[in-house]
Amino acid sequence: MKKALITGISGQDGSYLAEYLLGLGYEVWGLVRREPATVRWLEPVVHRVEFVYGDMRDAESLAVAFQKSWPDELYNLAGQVFVPTSWECPAETMDINAGGLARLLQIVERQKPDTRVYQASTSEMFGNTDGARNEQSQLRPMSPYGVSKMAAHRLAANYRNRGIFVASGILFNHESPRRGPEMVTRKITRAAARWAMGDRKKLRLGNLHARRDWGFAGDYVKAMHAMLQNGSAKDYVIGTGISHSVEDFLHQVLVELHRISDGAEVPSVEDWVEIDPHLLRTGEIHDLRADASLAHNELAWQPNVDFPQLVRMMVKADLVSARETRGTPDNC
Ligand code: GDP
Repeated sequence: MKKALITGISGQDGSYLAEYLLGLGYEVWGLVRREPATVRWLEPVVHRVEFVYGDMRDAESLAVAFQKSWPDELYNLAGQVFVPTSWECPAETMDINAGGLARLLQIVERQKPDTRVYQASTSEMFGNTDGARNEQSQLRPMSPYGVSKMAAHRLAANYRNRGIFVASGILFNHESPRRGPEMVTRKITRAAARWAMGDRKKLRLGNLHARRDWGFAGDYVKAMHAMLQNGSAKDYVIGTGISHSVEDFLHQVLVELHRISDGAEVPSVEDWVEIDPHLLRTGEIHDLRADASLAHNELAWQPNVDFPQLVRMMVKADLVSARETRGTPDNC
């Protein structure tokens, strides 16, 4: 039975990956900073995962977690992923995202160099270059988050040259009902659910014209696993190849809300949304779209969930939890 250690197991991607690997018969270990039972979406797997405690900034704790789990495959999904927070805490973002990988790779090289490593790289590394991005596209990050991920991405390539199997998945935005509530998709679907429950507060957003290539996280974790089963370690771009604007996302959410609520009246975007200038970003990335041809050809990877299906899944899930928590104040 293969053993996998997942850093960031309590996040969106970590939880989907844990479910996927358990389904494939893996022994799954998860690195956590605190009691995992409090993470709602880990509940179904919490008794099938071995948890080890550690922090990406603490090399000693990572070394102990590594020794305990002794993994065949290490998935590094832990990180500080929110762009605005990376401007508030740039040094911490660098330390967790780039320093964390440096600590892990040193441990792998010293203790068990045949461990295969997956590094979570990101489309935010590309910045504002034109057109669909592939593995050869220039990296011009626009935020401390993007810089930290680019540093980690380069470090992974350097360890690859030293003989460690490190594959980097350059994942474009991937969402789900488990997405962090600060990210724009989930912020919108949660607000839509509150609207359906009678809350008529305006939804405050920043730039509605920014475009992202949004896919479903559950599809993307399969690509992570496939990268580590490959003959050689490489970089792979993962995305749907189609970008939509934040405004498109809003419209699609309202279409879903109308459909799900049995034709009940829904607001127009103009009536519902208010632009908050504080939410506009310096260093905005205007359009991100993936060219995932290499992953299609070499990993036989394809996304299964399209944009309307993704939006439907998220709106539905947030409606269910809004009904459950009716009356609970929400300031997010
Ligand atoms: P990112 O692509 O990793 O930065 O993912 P986000 O979901 O945080 O942001 C996606 C896009 O939505 C960015 O271009 C943001 O500027 C834009 N956006 C517009 N309004 C908001 C908002 O209120 N919150 C967030 N998080 N993003 C917003």
